[in-house]
Amino acid sequence: MPDWLIYGMVYAGSALMVYNIIRYVRYELRLQKNKKWGKERQVLLVPIFLLVMFLFGYLAVGLFGSPDIIVSGILFGGSVFVFVIFGLLQRITDRIQENERLEADLRVAKESSRVKTTFLSSMSHEMRTPLNAIMGLDALALQNPELPAETRAQLEKVGDSAKHLLDMINNILDMNSIEAGSLTLKEEEFPLRKTLELAGLITKNRCEEKGLTYESSFSDALDDYYVGDETMLKHALLNVLGNAVKFTPAPGSVSFTVEQTVSQGPDRELRFIIADTGIGIDESLMRNLFTPFTAGDTSSTNRYSGSGLGLALSKRVTEMMGGGIAVSSKKGQGSTFTLTVRLKASDRKAEKQPEQDAESAAEETQLAGLKVLIVEDIDLNAEIVADLLDLEGISSDRAENGLVAVDMFTRSKPGTYDAILMDLRMPVMDGLDATRIIRDQNRPDAKTVPILALTANAFDEDVRNSLEAGMNAHMAKPVDPDLLFDNLRHLVPDHNK
Ligand code: ADP
Repeated sequence: MPDWLIYGMVYAGSALMVYNIIRYVRYELRLQKNKKWGKERQVLLVPIFLLVMFLFGYLAVGLFGSPDIIVSGILFGGSVFVFVIFGLLQRITDRIQENERLEADLRVAKESSRVKTTFLSSMSHEMRTPLNAIMGLDALALQNPELPAETRAQLEKVGDSAKHLLDMINNILDMNSIEAGSLTLKEEEFPLRKTLELAGLITKNRCEEKGLTYESSFSDALDDYYVGDETMLKHALLNVLGNAVKFTPAPGSVSFTVEQTVSQGPDRELRFIIADTGIGIDESLMRNLFTPFTAGDTSSTNRYSGSGLGLALSKRVTEMMGGGIAVSSKKGQGSTFTLTVRLKASDRKAEKQPEQDAESAAEETQLAGLKVLIVEDIDLNAEIVADLLDLEGISSDRAENGLVAVDMFTRSKPGTYDAILMDLRMPVMDGLDATRIIRDQNRPDAKTVPILALTANAFDEDVRNSLEAGMNAHMAKPVDPDLLFDNLRHLVPDHNK
């Protein structure tokens, strides 16, 4: 074996070893910064440290003794080995640190999403409470037949604006639950035709106000009932229908076509086509059309105003329903939005008209003479509900918190109250506790008196909590008078018998 090779390996191995030692020191320093890793680090480094020391010995022999092929071979091979092992160690360390960083990010994201949800939940409560007062008082004021025409028109505008605000709050809340993955679609039987007719009616009225023509065509192949989430479907459709009216100047037209495209086993695919002859959408804006908070055209936003949430929400909802949304549009000529969703079939048929009439006639007479306990901490809201009930001839008492309600119920003769309207968030005792205590009492009406949650908390979780506490129904504020009366009719069936 030539000498130059032996010495070549000794020098190359030594140089590599010096380099390895520098890396070793740097690696040590890096790990020391990470206090969490104390134990693992020591275990990992023991063999490496031993190897380095071992090679030092050979280095000494190589440089100061007379090296042979075995010494130089071990020195060179050992240096390369340590070099490779360090490379691997550093890779692994990088990976672990990257993972730790991602985990920390995830924790922060989860925490901030939780904070956001809590924040939105209380914001929604705070916003709905005054909105409840505005809409309730507005509806009451409009009941006055002697209003001057101008005042009536103004009050109607107040109502419309409040409604708009409420829609927006609902959109933000829905979007938030969808993004947080906490929105689950309901699977309930619902009368699709009625839903469509209602959405059509709202759109027709809006069109008439703006001087647009409105046309609708619902295919005969549609069944009366389907199983799915009516509320979310209605939201998705009304957002797109609302846009069609909003972005179409008079004289123009809006059309709403619904057909069933696929029927496979229990699955039904429905297609909703909403077309307008309005301002159209610029090619460049199409890409972000369904991204939250991008109101397509800033110049048109000024003129039409909007949060840019509507289409994003409609897209998410249709996707959750196993479909999607597509758009074709020409600037200046109009837009066509096509929504598809999958629902489940239902055998149920719409009731015959005479039966319905008889039923509703019976329903009309039932409410007058009922007595209801209103549990509500805010005076104005309690007054509004009392006045609304009064319109139907229902008398009421009021308790300003859960404890007072329990007390009033306990002292009343069984059967005094036909129903209890229960706010959820109240000082002293909240609505859930009050309901549990009332349900636990030992008296004939404790288990049977209908208790309806009437609250500004509009999250699914609130609905679940109130039903679990023993309430019969849950209504979100602002109070929808028709829904309130429907619920009362439904839950107090034996009245007048
Ligand atoms: P917004 O609340 O602003 O209406 P959307 O998500 O519903 O939010 O709509 C986003 C944007 O898409 C709108 O600001 C508008 O520029 C555009 N757009 C939506 N629908 C139409 C339509 N039918 N015609 C023209 N532009 C539309």
